[in-house]
Amino acid sequence: MIASTSLSAGQIGLREFHSFEAAGRRFVYLVPSAAVFALDDCSAAVLESLAHGPRAEDELTRDLAERFDAADVTSTIAELHRVRALGRADGAPASVPKIIPLQPVPLQTLVVNVTNQCNLSCTYCYEYGEDKIVDTENGRQPKFMSEATARDAIEFALRESRDNPRAHITFFGGETLMNFPVLKSTIGYARRRAAEAGKEIDFSLTTNATLLRPDVIEFLAEERVGVTISIDGPEEMQDKFRVFNNGAGSYAMAAPKIKALLARHRSRPIGARVTLTRQTLDVRRIYRHLTDELGFWEVGFAPVTTAPGRDYAISDGGFDHLLSQFRDLAAEYLDAALQNRHHGFSNIRETLQEIHHGHAKAYPCGAGLGLMGVSTDGNVALCHRFAGSDDHTLGTVRDGVSWEQQQAFLETHHVSSKTDCTTCWARPICAGGCYHEAHTRYGETTRPNLHYCEWIRGWTHTCLEIYGELAERNPAFLRQFDDEDVAEKVS
Ligand code: SF4
Ligand code: SF4
Repeated sequence: MIASTSLSAGQIGLREFHSFEAAGRRFVYLVPSAAVFALDDCSAAVLESLAHGPRAEDELTRDLAERFDAADVTSTIAELHRVRALGRADGAPASVPKIIPLQPVPLQTLVVNVTNQCNLSCTYCYEYGEDKIVDTENGRQPKFMSEATARDAIEFALRESRDNPRAHITFFGGETLMNFPVLKSTIGYARRRAAEAGKEIDFSLTTNATLLRPDVIEFLAEERVGVTISIDGPEEMQDKFRVFNNGAGSYAMAAPKIKALLARHRSRPIGARVTLTRQTLDVRRIYRHLTDELGFWEVGFAPVTTAPGRDYAISDGGFDHLLSQFRDLAAEYLDAALQNRHHGFSNIRETLQEIHHGHAKAYPCGAGLGLMGVSTDGNVALCHRFAGSDDHTLGTVRDGVSWEQQQAFLETHHVSSKTDCTTCWARPICAGGCYHEAHTRYGETTRPNLHYCEWIRGWTHTCLEIYGELAERNPAFLRQFDDEDVAEKVS
């Protein structure tokens, strides 16, 4: 609900919030502060009364005093005003403040694209698809990152992490393990240099699993490297799009290697990352297969990034189907959480964590701020998906990044510049969505991803309901999010 009516002097009216119910109780999600607020009978009555339009405060107090103690009504109005669910005529106008950092933001995660080559040719892959941004044909980009460039990337990450006591490196590709020798020596180098700099450093990578040899698995387990496997589900789903050059499916090769990895690598949870397409939307079946049959700890799903028109693009009806499947899995997650059992649906865990932290996002992700991507030649881009693109380069690992360019990026990409988003209740979580998706879809990173608003709002509403249920019925479960950093996602 968004108050758009202008208020006369002495009147109070609704400001921005989104109502939902959970555990038999009414809640509001307060948009400016990204806070969840449980309503008692009196605050619910105040909001209901103002839903018909702004009122004079004394008139409202008088009306409600028939049902509630007048002092309670007054203090409830004051509290709702304090949390910015209500506004007064003399209050600040409801707008999205544009606050741009005045100095460089410490880098949390550097995504190092150690190769732009891949041994698979997944039909929808952004590396090979319509939004291909790495041009290896004319030799501008080396196919593999050299050891010297990888070391420069580590120096860059340690330097740009500034006062942060830790740095995180994620290796990405192409298929990351095609450059395993450089990856391996870089981890050794990075550990030495981080120790000299007095910082902690940790590592993760994304792979399609087909190159997981026993020695690679041993190394990843020994070095406690976090691993995310790109896999789309059971054999017939995986083999629809995740194919080798000759069109053969990759499941038969990947599955035994994944099982070997999961059996040996127990120092960190191993997650699966699924790309959903129009043809592979059976979320529950994919989840069951990846957790129960292959043994993944967590599974995250992302709709395919594509310009419209591709036959694998998810249609509007497909998003409705997706939402209903996500809701079913979220209900399973809730059941498990109420019994303090693990459930590996990572999309809901991540959104609950964001709701719990209550940050109203001005930017959809950390790209260009706490997260940057490095291409094989050492150019630094907004994120890994832009690595190799001339248009989104911020600098190089050797010479550093331009703070002026970062500031210009922050200025033009702030959520307050996205007109449709400034009146959307889901903006604290979405903030316009992925820049790379917008670039693929509309050709501009500054555009909000308006093609999936209904999906985002529907899913955020469900997450709020689950959050409210847990807040009422098992609040201890939510405490696990108290100290957790909201990690920069790499997808
Ligand atoms: S992209 Fe859509 S859902 Fe996301 S904040 Fe903007 S208007 Fe809301
Ligand atoms: S959400 Fe999009 S722009 Fe942001 S880091 Fe991920 S891929 Fe890059």
